[in-house]
Amino acid sequence: MRSLKDAIPEPYWLTQAGAPAPAAPLDGVETADLAVVGAGYSGLWTALLAKERDPQRDVVIVEAGTAGWAASGRNGGFCAASITHGFDNGLTRFPGEMDTLLRLGRENLDEIEATVARHGIDCDFRRTGELNVATEDWQWRDLVASHAAEAARGLDVVLLDQDSVRAEVASPTYQGGVWDRTGCATVDPARLVWGLRAACLRLGVRIFENTPVERITAARGGLSLHTWRGRVTAARVALATGAHGSLLKRLRQFVVPVYDYALMTEPLSPAQMNAIGWRNRQGIGDAGNQFHYYRLTADNRMLWGGYDAIYYNGGRIRPEQQQREATFEVLARHFEATFPQLEGVRFTHKWGGVIDCCSRFSAFFGTAHGGRLSYAAGYTGLGVGATRFGAKVMLDLLGGEPTELTALKMVRRKPVPFPPEPVRSGVIQLTRWSIARADRHEGRRNLWLRSLDAMGLGFDS
Ligand SMILES: Cc1cc2nc3c(=O)[nH]c(=O)nc-3n(C[C@H](O)[C@H](O)[C@H](O)COP(=O)(O)OP(=O)(O)OC[C@H]3O[C@@H](n4cnc5c(N)ncnc54)[C@H](O)[C@@H]3O)c2cc1C
Repeated sequence: MRSLKDAIPEPYWLTQAGAPAPAAPLDGVETADLAVVGAGYSGLWTALLAKERDPQRDVVIVEAGTAGWAASGRNGGFCAASITHGFDNGLTRFPGEMDTLLRLGRENLDEIEATVARHGIDCDFRRTGELNVATEDWQWRDLVASHAAEAARGLDVVLLDQDSVRAEVASPTYQGGVWDRTGCATVDPARLVWGLRAACLRLGVRIFENTPVERITAARGGLSLHTWRGRVTAARVALATGAHGSLLKRLRQFVVPVYDYALMTEPLSPAQMNAIGWRNRQGIGDAGNQFHYYRLTADNRMLWGGYDAIYYNGGRIRPEQQQREATFEVLARHFEATFPQLEGVRFTHKWGGVIDCCSRFSAFFGTAHGGRLSYAAGYTGLGVGATRFGAKVMLDLLGGEPTELTALKMVRRKPVPFPPEPVRSGVIQLTRWSIARADRHEGRRNLWLRSLDAMGLGFDS
């Protein structure tokens, strides 16, 4: 396709100027009070919060690549208050504690905003909210029902009919929408990583990059992280490895690596911006089962991603899977249909990344090695904001004392495990097929999806 012809196969965000020089790899033997494995948002928030809670604590991060190279530096940058992968998912899975989870999620987003300001993180944080749009009748019916439930719980949500939603953003495909005005911010994801990394360093966190942890063993005084050329022994360990969670065997039953893809356009001209409106610069998602997400950047590019959620049979993670031409073409066609007035706009970047999908779509937590290690995983494509909440949970679990967070059902209960391979691949591909079919048939879920719903199992981007 012409619009994709010159697109560079790299995540736009990570190609920007301002990436920090990588820290030196670990070479030798180190000790620490707390060692964090992984320098995505999850690991960086854990280290930062640990230092903010106790500045004397000696904290080390060990990262296999460079900070933010994985999901944290290549995502859509929707920083949502929801810690449950959306209102409906939270209400279905944790009905008894939904009010608490909504409050904790709102506090979490407020605290992210405050941290960004306090540490002077230049990440284009804009609390513009999220606009959920319906492009089919059945989606509109679902949105109206969700809006009523959200409003009843006090969310700042506005229902927009066809004229009002098109007055916000001019797409001929929109039939209506719900604007959650304060429950989401957009950020520049890579700059958020770089800013958190710099804040950690300023507070005295030691970071080792290009240092994969190969195994974790018990040691006198705690646990040892073994790497190619060294070792860190720490009293406590936080495992923040996202979809790459092979260091702790038990995580493999709960997490599957799913690829999500995105495109970035060239900057839109003032005339093109005029043609689409979008003066309030909300993050936008559509309400299909296979949904698109899109937003503007500081220089008026449009990021356009989602729809396909690809599981490669066997659950392999490979660099070449970060590119998928068939998906890029589907995305480009959907972009053109949504904004015909942008005909001729070119994409400059195309990329994919892995998300840590679990069957309840929202993070789960736990400890291992006698409580000396904690973990959080399973954010399923909504971890930009929620990883900070997960970091607090990991620190509370390592503290060993009961807290409001450790008492939550969401924290104490695990998702339904996925079956082992090769059944896992079969189940996931059948689910993908059924989801696509539901989108073509007015959202009607077939027997397979209804059975999964009843068992609390799911698959999503
Ligand atoms: C294309 C795409 C779009 C997305 N859009 C959004 C969005 O708009 N909003 C949203 O909320 N979420 C979104 N997400 C999801 C979000 O990016 C993730 O939930 C979040 O970044 C997870 O952070 P993390 O720190 O847990 O994982 P990661 O960012 O994956 O970081 C894990 C880190 O652990 C390191 N690691 C793993 N194993 C080891 C080891 N053995 N030794 C040392 N280090 C190790 C890895 O190198 C990696 O750096 C998107 C994801 C993708 C891929």
